Amino acid sequence: MKMSKMFVQTLREFPSDAEVISHKMLGRAGFIKKLAPGVYTYQPLMWKVLKKIENIVREEMDRAGAQELLMPFVQPKELWEESGRWEVYGKELMRLKDRHDRDMCLGPTHEEIITSVARDGLKSYKQLPVNLYQIQSKFRDEIRPRYGLLRGREFIMKDAYSFDIDEAGLDKEYENMAQAYKRIFERCGLDTKMVQSDSGAIGGSVSHEFMVITDTDAGENDVFYCNECDYSANSNHAISNLPETVVDGKDFFKETKVIDTPNTHSIEDLCKFLNIPSTIILKTLVYIVDKKPVLALIRADKAVEETKLMNAAGGIDIRIASSAEIAELMAEKGFDAVPGFIGPMKDVKIIADETVKDLKNFVVGVNQTDKHMVGANLSDLAVELEYADIRLVERGELCTQCGKPLQVTKGIEVGNIFKLGTKYSKPMNAVYTDINGKTHPYVMGCYGIGISRTAAAAVEAHYDEHGIKWPIAIAPYHVVIVPVNIKDELQMKTANEMYEKLQSAGIEVVLDDRDERAGVKFKDADLIGFPYRVTVGKTINEGFVEFKVRETDQQEKYTPDKATEILIENIKKAVL
Ligand code: ATP
Ligand code: MG
Repeated sequence: MKMSKMFVQTLREFPSDAEVISHKMLGRAGFIKKLAPGVYTYQPLMWKVLKKIENIVREEMDRAGAQELLMPFVQPKELWEESGRWEVYGKELMRLKDRHDRDMCLGPTHEEIITSVARDGLKSYKQLPVNLYQIQSKFRDEIRPRYGLLRGREFIMKDAYSFDIDEAGLDKEYENMAQAYKRIFERCGLDTKMVQSDSGAIGGSVSHEFMVITDTDAGENDVFYCNECDYSANSNHAISNLPETVVDGKDFFKETKVIDTPNTHSIEDLCKFLNIPSTIILKTLVYIVDKKPVLALIRADKAVEETKLMNAAGGIDIRIASSAEIAELMAEKGFDAVPGFIGPMKDVKIIADETVKDLKNFVVGVNQTDKHMVGANLSDLAVELEYADIRLVERGELCTQCGKPLQVTKGIEVGNIFKLGTKYSKPMNAVYTDINGKTHPYVMGCYGIGISRTAAAAVEAHYDEHGIKWPIAIAPYHVVIVPVNIKDELQMKTANEMYEKLQSAGIEVVLDDRDERAGVKFKDADLIGFPYRVTVGKTINEGFVEFKVRETDQQEKYTPDKATEILIENIKKAVL
């Protein structure tokens, strides 16, 4: 490709709405163009990167025994009603009507469609197991589309679905996919961590996420991990043991009574007022889960993990209650307490964290402003509690596997593997017939990779102040050749010869034949992130070209033939 003909516009500035590195770099280097929030044109350079990632994914999925198909973007409501998701998916689902006023949606994921495809085609145990996958655009009306390709409303995903006769089959395929994912991300030049993750309210399911660990703002997930053993989990699923601390208030309170605690609106105020540690306070928080209030009880020095609480409450949507909603709840129950003084109450769902069981002689709100009960025990609460782990793990708490302190880091989720079991096959009556003629729902798994997110994550992991440093396997081109002065005959002749030799060896090479200053060309080369740059300048008069490795900044002088040979050898080794 000649740079003078390449459809690319590099910009002087980062896009004004870009907050994270990958969005800034991909925008400025001319890889993406925004059409609407979360909706981008993949310009030719970007499309080359995406196709490379797709091809790695395709090769590894095929190698793992999966078969590629392509399902429609446009999906009829009826299938989503069969699974029960038309109602619950909410606003993220992009809905539309056809000319006959029929409800349809643009696929955010394809469990419903693939399950209907399978039930028509996979009738007998003899046809199983099967794993089907596709690579295509997905549509999700994300509440906060942001970070460029990391959280789009239209984005490219690989989604695969496996069908087995039993759990043992699913377990095997799940492991097969985990191995395929490891190979995929490794080949893309990405270091990933496979971490345990939330699998929603369906009991017993297992899921893992593949995280690109990053210290940039783009890491939307907190990942807890142990340096001693192999434990690692997304914060929405992480568990820990707590270091020993005071959880019995017997040294502070000799009897159980309600006392005045004026103006103690915060835990800090209350600790100061009573001169106690926060570990012996039972905190009550009001959440709204699927539009209904739920009280969460937790030790006051700990925080609630909302996904855990939502799952424990059996919901699909959660948020903290507003002050108006809290006031409304208080009025409804006949209390006058303001936040800070709320406590357990009857006829509201209450979920207490497991660690609440250990509390004794504690302090708790009694739904009266400026009052708390002290020296309280669980039996004094006179309400029905459900227990669950709803606690947000914190750094330094102890690994449940080996007892060592847990570490935390940020991660970008690029892939996800999930044991669905019969979540879709049962309600959609998608069954196979066993050897005795009996029917059973398929045991399913699903496996996603965000293709466009992976590309952006690669930028988050490989960049410097000058631009992108593409891992070679997914770089749009491998090499750029920069003749310093295009009017210099020897320089152009050498550049052209190298260009042709590299091309005929199958190397993807760009010749920067623009009549620009060398500085401009170097800047663009660094910004776009070509893994190798060959500069043909004055030194060619002594028979040498300059060779630069973008990743390491290492520079060498070689004869054009030697440079060509090294490039072919290095690139062939790296991309296979
Ligand atoms: P997230 O928690 O980040 O919203 P998710 O759990 O909704 O992700 P899945 O439904 O598991 O994601 O989708 C599979 C993969 O698709 C994810 O691992 C991620 O790489 C990618 N993905 C999901 N949502 C988006 C998005 N809005 N933009 C780009 N990629 C996405
Ligand atoms: Mg999501």
